[in-house]
Amino acid sequence: MKAEIIAVGSELVSGQCLDTNSQWLSQKLGDRGIPTHFHTTIGDDLAENVAVIDAALNRADLVLISGGLGPTQDDLTRQALADVAKVPLQEDPTSLQAIADFFARRHREMASRNKVQALFPMGAKPIPNRTGTAPGIWMRVGTSMVVCLPGVPSELKIMFTEQVIPRLVDLNWIDQVIVHHKINLFGRGESEFEAMAMDLTARGRVPAVGITASDATISFRISGTGPDEAEARAAIEPTLAIIRDRFAEFVIGEGTDDLPEAVARELARTGKTLALAESCTGGMVGELLTNIPGISEHFLGGVVSYANSAKIGLLGVPETLLAVYGAVSPEVAEAMAIGARLKFGADLGLSITGIAGPDGGSEDKPIGLVYLGLSTAEGVTTKRLDIGPEQPRAIIRRRSSKHALNYVRLGLKGLRTV
Ligand code: AMP
Ligand code: MG
Repeated sequence: MKAEIIAVGSELVSGQCLDTNSQWLSQKLGDRGIPTHFHTTIGDDLAENVAVIDAALNRADLVLISGGLGPTQDDLTRQALADVAKVPLQEDPTSLQAIADFFARRHREMASRNKVQALFPMGAKPIPNRTGTAPGIWMRVGTSMVVCLPGVPSELKIMFTEQVIPRLVDLNWIDQVIVHHKINLFGRGESEFEAMAMDLTARGRVPAVGITASDATISFRISGTGPDEAEARAAIEPTLAIIRDRFAEFVIGEGTDDLPEAVARELARTGKTLALAESCTGGMVGELLTNIPGISEHFLGGVVSYANSAKIGLLGVPETLLAVYGAVSPEVAEAMAIGARLKFGADLGLSITGIAGPDGGSEDKPIGLVYLGLSTAEGVTTKRLDIGPEQPRAIIRRRSSKHALNYVRLGLKGLRTV
């Protein structure tokens, strides 16, 4: 079984509007075990639409077409499909009534152009649209099934979920459920993590394990299949257990959980409070943490101590440390972390000081050099990061923030060595 998706609209090929429907449909088909082999995006041109639909019918069992079902001149999908199938268009009275009712409920006059939305290629079945005027089209052409959906993403999603999936189930084209689960890691690069998981990511392994990277968070995506959701979940459980066990302290969360959620969870678990002293990240760590609802119980606040005068005045960093070691040094990171902890009366003080570039790097202190400090009642530790002199400023600041969150997470877990 192969699916193909055709997204129709001149606004898509011209770059004005991004084709998000194809992505969404492919994901939903994949979730139900139907792989998509082709995406085609095409403008509102009849001959080109006919050619593209024709090509799709030759290579796919299921052809989903999004867009071009509106009432205007440039909406050509129903005509193109009729041309490909070599059948005339016919009016469907039930659909015409549904469109008329749609306008009547809104006390609006139905334009005569809307009548074309009740035209269907002979042999096609209308798919009701409960959120808009354009009905969809369900039609077998040769051995393939063609499904036309409205371009408006909200209408397309509702019609696909409520009308198309059940029809595919009835056809026995869908007889399995696929579940996906993500386990998110931090602290090593994608290739390093993959090297530790070659047995899991091998092609053809069941259940399948994929690896993706987003902003230095590395995720394993485990996909399992079964006749129903419970069995599909059970099929991935042993693999999840292997990953959780093998990557132990690198696992920051599952599903959509990233480092801020992980830190919030560890703060809640330990009942500790946190304060920040941020230099090169300019408050980004605070921003990430305050995105988490309920964090106010554990996150007391932070100082954006960008200038030396702020490090001295607001955090009590000794002037001599700055003079002797410079602002980007383990000594100053320590003093900033201690200052944040004491000024806020927190259990933990976290500091970040680094060179974000593009200027200000030197031989012994290159761009991308960042020091983290973590102060508790037991003492203070620091960590050096080398994000890389070639990285843009935005990446250096963002990575520093994530590493800083990971540093607190490990500190709260009692793991400082990683
Ligand atoms: P149509 O059904 O072709 O009249 O499309 C109606 C509107 O839906 C367009 O003006 C776009 O704003 C939006 N749209 C159409 N196709 C897509 C698509 N593939 N992805 C996202 N939005 C779309
Ligand atoms: Mg259109």
